[in-house]
Amino acid sequence: METREYYECHGHIFMDGTNYKNAMARHRPEPDKALIRERLAALRAAGVTYYRDGGDILGASAYAREVAGEYGIEYRTCVFATHKRKQYGWIVGHAFQGAEEFRTLVERAKEEKADFIKLMISGIMDFQTPGGLMGGGLEPGEIGELIRIAHGEGFRVMAHVNGSERIRIALEAGLDSVEHGYFGDEDCLRYLAQTGAVWVPTLAATAGFAGREGFGPGVAEENIRSQGRMLRKAAEMGVLIAAGSDAGAYGVPPDTGIHLEHALLAAAGIPAGIVRAGDEAIRQRFRRD
Ligand SMILES: [Zn+2]
Repeated sequence: METREYYECHGHIFMDGTNYKNAMARHRPEPDKALIRERLAALRAAGVTYYRDGGDILGASAYAREVAGEYGIEYRTCVFATHKRKQYGWIVGHAFQGAEEFRTLVERAKEEKADFIKLMISGIMDFQTPGGLMGGGLEPGEIGELIRIAHGEGFRVMAHVNGSERIRIALEAGLDSVEHGYFGDEDCLRYLAQTGAVWVPTLAATAGFAGREGFGPGVAEENIRSQGRMLRKAAEMGVLIAAGSDAGAYGVPPDTGIHLEHALLAAAGIPAGIVRAGDEAIRQRFRRD
C-alpha cells in the first residue's frame, strides 16, 4: 500500500489504458460495477484519495462516484463531457450544435448531478509533427458564450483545450481549468496567472505516445519538452499547476498513472509544493455547493 497521497485531477474510470473501444464495450449496456470497484481499490492502493473524472457516456463515472467513499476516495465527475457535433469528443461525451443545445446539456448535467461541466474546446495532438493538432474545435467566437452559460447555472468549467488562441479566449471568458493546454504562448501564461485558473498539463497522456507505431518519431517527446518549458515559466509566474494523468487514456495506467504524471512534472522541474497547491485548488473548486 502506497503511503503517499495523490490527487488524480484528470482521469476516466471507464478506460483501461490500452483500447478505448474494448473499454467502452465492457460498460455496455451497463457500467461494469465489479470492474469499477476493482479500479477504485487499485487507485486507493496507489495512494489516490481524490479523483476528478473527465467523463464518459456509459454511466461509469457516475457509478464510481456513488461508491468511491467506500474506498476512501473523494470522487467528482462531470458525468459526461460535451463537444460540438462532428468534433473531437464522442468517446467521453455528448454532442451539441449551438448555444441552445449546449444549454440543454447543461440542464441534463444538472439532473444527473454533475459536479462541474466539461467542455471540449479544441482538437487533440496529431503526434505527426511537433505542435500539430487535429480534430477541429469550437469557433473562437462561440467559446465565451458556452463558458458563461455553464457558469450561469452555477457550474465550474473544466475544458480540454490546446493551442494559443483558444486557450487565451477561454481564459478571458473565465475558464476554471485548462486540461492539456499544449502549444500555448506567453499570453496564455499571463492569463492563467491573472485569472487564477488551474493548468492540468497531462504529461503522462503525451508520454503514452512516445515510440508508438504509426506516429512521428520523437514527436511526443518534443511536445513534452515544449510543455515542460512553458510549465517552468508558468511556475515562475505563480500559475496554479495540478497533476492529472488522463488516467485510462492510451498508455496511461488507470491506477498508477498519477505516479507517472508526478515523475514527469518533477523531471520538467516543477516543485512538488507547487503541484500540491494546484491539486488543492482543483479539489476546492470543482464541486457544486
Ligand atoms: Zn481526458
